[in-house]
Amino acid sequence: MTGTYHIWTIGCQMNEADSRHLASQLEALGFSETNRAEDADLAVLNTCVVRQQPEDKAVRKLTSLGGIKGSRRPGMIIALMGCMVGKREAEDLAEQFPFIDVFTAPSQTDALIEYLLQHDAYSHLNKVQVELADYRLPAVNRDKAITAFVPVTLGCSHVCSYCIIPYRRGPDRSRKPEEVLDEVRSLAAQGIKEVNLLGQIVDRYGFDLEEGINLAWLLKEVAKVDGILRVRFLTSHPAYMDEELIRTVAETEKVCPYFEIPFQAGSDRILESMRRGYTQADYRDIVSNIRRWIPDASINTDVIVGYPGESEEDFLETMNLTEELRLDMHHIAKYSPRPRTLSAKMKDDVSTEEKERRRTVLDERVTKINAEKSQKILGETVEVLVEEFQEKKNRWRGRTPHNKLVFFEDDANRLGQLVSVKIEWAGPFSLIGVPLA
Ligand code: SF4
Repeated sequence: MTGTYHIWTIGCQMNEADSRHLASQLEALGFSETNRAEDADLAVLNTCVVRQQPEDKAVRKLTSLGGIKGSRRPGMIIALMGCMVGKREAEDLAEQFPFIDVFTAPSQTDALIEYLLQHDAYSHLNKVQVELADYRLPAVNRDKAITAFVPVTLGCSHVCSYCIIPYRRGPDRSRKPEEVLDEVRSLAAQGIKEVNLLGQIVDRYGFDLEEGINLAWLLKEVAKVDGILRVRFLTSHPAYMDEELIRTVAETEKVCPYFEIPFQAGSDRILESMRRGYTQADYRDIVSNIRRWIPDASINTDVIVGYPGESEEDFLETMNLTEELRLDMHHIAKYSPRPRTLSAKMKDDVSTEEKERRRTVLDERVTKINAEKSQKILGETVEVLVEEFQEKKNRWRGRTPHNKLVFFEDDANRLGQLVSVKIEWAGPFSLIGVPLA
């Protein structure tokens, strides 16, 4: 064995996928996983800076690991990965946390692998192992999961005013289709039943590849892989959600009728300041088009409240759009300025209390909408892909094609199966039912 590793991960599904890739690389190098970062020879923190809270958490974790390294584990290698790592930021962080041994950018693990090869303790690693330890290596399903995230576009070139991602993950680029399909085949052979194709703007997939290769094409190809029962994709940008993609979702059986399309704000004035590239009317048209092809499609969205200059009228437009569209799930974030972004230069003029008030009002409203929509599923039979057995509650947990969370009890082993469940209780965020024979 080469040594032990632990990867601490926070943030989006892209980070989860990156961590899984890195784990596969490290295992190809002979490392084995340990449960606690404190005990590892190599501790990797895969970080997120999309908001202040995850960044603060990563700093706390880093500080605690630095203390352990300084007092009792001087040989421990500490690697910082993910969106905290940008060129400029790495220099500042190296000064602030001199115990960090290596910085490695999101979805680019080369710097870490290179560092290990140069390190005296790992000089025995041979060329074959190193060639195996490539990021493009299909991820290993180490935790015997049923669903997996597969990145298909990396980075983002959109530069929305408030978003730090393009500065940390670089411009967008598509992974080669054969690389993605190899990974999906490998995951299917390891027991994965559902894949979620990932990208900051996943519906841009293929813009830099040969003609005819786009997300609609890729979804159909992934759906053909033996063993894969369901395919999803996220996150979409309204500007690229075209009819071909919607039709593909409607017509490809294994592709779930599920969309994640952030609208972020209901006011055109705020959308323009955010540089989102669409209006409220454009967003409304997309939702109508999806519902024309797939009347019961599930649509999730992201909303930001308290963006600089957001007046009460602007906020009411967000409330009205929410009320009118009645989407399925809303991730609501209170605006917080992120370094180097365009909006960070604007006056953050909505008070903390007002941001919280707007978040609460909107949250109450969407919870009510969720509860009302859920009631319609009561008494229905849904198809659940079972992802996990919850020992403590003695029940199975899975999801419907519309991504609704379902719990049910059953003595039989249902892991990884598609089970028909009759819904007997429906809350705003989950459903409980009984399996049918
Ligand atoms: S589309 Fe906008 S919000 Fe999404 S990652 Fe790109 S810049 Fe950020």
